[in-house]
Amino acid sequence: MRPARFTLHRPTSLAQALALKAEHGDDATFHAGGTELLVALKAHVLRYTHVIDIKQIQELRGVRIREGDTLSIGALCTHHMLANDPLMRERLPGYAELSEQVANIRVRVAGTLGGVLCFGEPHADAPTMLCALDAWVVLAGPDGEREVPSRDFHLGEFATARQEGEMLVSIDVAPQSPGTRSAYRCFGHTERPAVGVAAVWSTDNPQRLSLWAGAITAAPVRLARAEEAASRLAPDLPPAAVWAGLRDAVAADAASLDVHDDLHGGADYKRHLVSVLAQRALDACLS
Ligand SMILES: Cc1cc2nc3c(=O)[nH]c(=O)nc-3n(C[C@H](O)[C@H](O)[C@H](O)COP(=O)(O)OP(=O)(O)OC[C@H]3O[C@@H](n4cnc5c(N)ncnc54)[C@H](O)[C@@H]3O)c2cc1C
Repeated sequence: MRPARFTLHRPTSLAQALALKAEHGDDATFHAGGTELLVALKAHVLRYTHVIDIKQIQELRGVRIREGDTLSIGALCTHHMLANDPLMRERLPGYAELSEQVANIRVRVAGTLGGVLCFGEPHADAPTMLCALDAWVVLAGPDGEREVPSRDFHLGEFATARQEGEMLVSIDVAPQSPGTRSAYRCFGHTERPAVGVAAVWSTDNPQRLSLWAGAITAAPVRLARAEEAASRLAPDLPPAAVWAGLRDAVAADAASLDVHDDLHGGADYKRHLVSVLAQRALDACLS
């Protein structure tokens, strides 16, 4: 099916894009890579009379280091760019590896990080890892910029903390200490993940684990019992001993998740996957 007719705008600055959005309100939407938006427009699931193509806005491009040694990822970075970007590979190799596995090459070269976060489809990889990394998003709107932690950004299926007139500008991550490793493991039998688990393991004193499950529920969820159990483990244990100390806590976390049978699998199967993927993500951090 063809989309309904719309006027295409191609602003070259953030200010122009925000002004267009303010002018046309609910009748307008932002368009980045279009991998989600165009499908929804063609299926007439969404309908807008104004589409604001943001791809020419320089402020939204590239990965850079800004004040405080913060890694700042422009909203227009595609998954393919993030998989290959030298700064990402050096600073967040676990995230670069995740980007390499997203969808298929056609989606990776066009789909952006800003797009996947703003669309709010729960069966995605990036939100889980960004929550585990304690990242935050920078949103620009008519009243200026504001920052929202990733953990508060994802509110549920297709629902985020972004206000209607706001644009996601960047995704920022604080510098990781030298003893910190991160890894993400997922599984699914459709094009999108059924379950994903992200682990960020820090061997600093005190030892700390950030462990999140995503895609399985409407928004990523912290596996809090496992995090708590990790803080009580002796330092420098081999991976098998770490897993022995965390297995029951991960299983208890998985059992408490609000999971349903759907086309991605049965609830019990997906809960089981949480444990399998948590072990693999932890092994990747520790090995
Ligand atoms: C076949 C297929 C398989 C996929 N598999 C996976 C997978 O395995 N793992 C995974 O993580 N993801 C997967 N995805 C999702 C993919 O990551 C997203 O489609 C892509 O990143 C969206 O980015 P985009 O630039 O194309 O967004 P668009 O389609 O351009 O936009 C999506 C939505 O976000 C809004 N938006 C976009 N950018 C901004 C911005 N900067 N500020 C405010 N609003 C904005 C748009 O208005 C729109 O509502 C898959 C998608 C497809 C189509």
